[in-house]
Amino acid sequence: MKVLLVEDEVKLAKAIKTGLEQDGYAVDLNTNYDDGLAYATTEDYDFIILDRMLPGGKDGSDICSLIRRKGITTPVIMLTAMGETEDIIQGLDEGADDYLTKPFKFDELLARLRALKRRPKNVVEKVIKFGNLQINTTNKEVSRFSSNKLTTKQTPIKLSKKEFAVLEYLAVNKGTIASKEQILSHVWDFDSDVLPNTVEVFIKSIRKKIDEPGSDSLIETVRGFGYRMRVVNV
Ligand code: CA
Repeated sequence: MKVLLVEDEVKLAKAIKTGLEQDGYAVDLNTNYDDGLAYATTEDYDFIILDRMLPGGKDGSDICSLIRRKGITTPVIMLTAMGETEDIIQGLDEGADDYLTKPFKFDELLARLRALKRRPKNVVEKVIKFGNLQINTTNKEVSRFSSNKLTTKQTPIKLSKKEFAVLEYLAVNKGTIASKEQILSHVWDFDSDVLPNTVEVFIKSIRKKIDEPGSDSLIETVRGFGYRMRVVNV
């Protein structure tokens, strides 16, 4: 397993590198933003560990958001001296998978790397697009974009929480068919008193809101199996 470590406190950086190597990891170490970003975008890593505050007022979480925009889904752990909840929230929203507040015990870093290893590979994209429909999984906004030669118009679509959850589940699992039972178990809690027919009712109301009149529904019904998001080329 190969790790990219971007950390400017040389003593700490070397200690982490040595510790990780003792645990069997290969480690590339960068001590500034530019090198870190260059390595993160050109080399293939199993994990990236990013210090939040880098020299020159640079922010490690910007590296994270830039690589996510490039479609790089490598798990990222942020190291932050700031234990403030807002910084942690921002770091996670930029696409980080986990964070550690300094000072931390090295064993905890190892444990978190192990935990990330156990996670499924499909990192959820922040914005998922189907044709001109955009689903933002962070702020939970859904909008339709329509454009002519001059302007692009964004029309927000209002969905209830559960409607959004159903749509998000289908969007995150695009390319695979979701059965009604799977949708039920991922969107409703175990104790909920709902039946598979409930899913049909929700799909119907979501279609009414997201589909454009006269075009095929973005949610395909696969008879006998379930539902799947339609692949649309723009
Ligand atoms: Ca730092």
